Amino acid sequence: MSGLPSPGATGEQTTVGVLALQGDFEAHGAVLARLGAIVREVRVPADLEGLDGLVIPGGESTTITLGIEREQLGEPLKAFHASGKPIFGTCAGLIMLDSEHLGIIDLRAERNAFGRQVRSFEAPVELGLPGGPVAAVFIRAPWIADHGPDVEILAEVDGHGVAAREGQVLVVAFHPELSGDDRLHALFLQSVRDARLAAA
Ligand code: GLN
Repeated sequence: MSGLPSPGATGEQTTVGVLALQGDFEAHGAVLARLGAIVREVRVPADLEGLDGLVIPGGESTTITLGIEREQLGEPLKAFHASGKPIFGTCAGLIMLDSEHLGIIDLRAERNAFGRQVRSFEAPVELGLPGGPVAAVFIRAPWIADHGPDVEILAEVDGHGVAAREGQVLVVAFHPELSGDDRLHALFLQSVRDARLAAA
């Protein structure tokens, strides 16, 4: 035994799913793989089997909603959450998790809240991560319009929540997979590893 521990060789490697019905799931997969996770694209309920965590990417929430209905993924996704597995929703993924869609996090997202294409922008968002604010890419982004008492708002832009956490669910209104700044994915992956160890 020498050198750095190899997660793959010790069987300790974390497997993270990325919902791949529509949207920029490939970019999320690339970041997670870069951070050392095994990545699995999720298209049908059986793909959730054995995952340690799940990312729901940005894209178009109406299309993703239709895909979830078509593949009958709604109940399996809720069960995945109920089993204590961490979920990270970004942009349309935040919308999918809200109280008007899957109801996995106790908040209501307002779609296209910053305006449509014209309000796509990049802004520094302070999340208290080591290294300072993240450069956040907002694309027809939602914001958090209302939330329940157990939801912690982690960051705001223009006075509106754009990042939040409730238990094992982390959501951001922007696209962390597009900025080249992997810190949010690293934070999520750490929560996935912690949850896996806690459940072992
Ligand atoms: N505006 C999109 C929607 O409502 C979300 C945008 C995104 O994910 N970049 O589905």
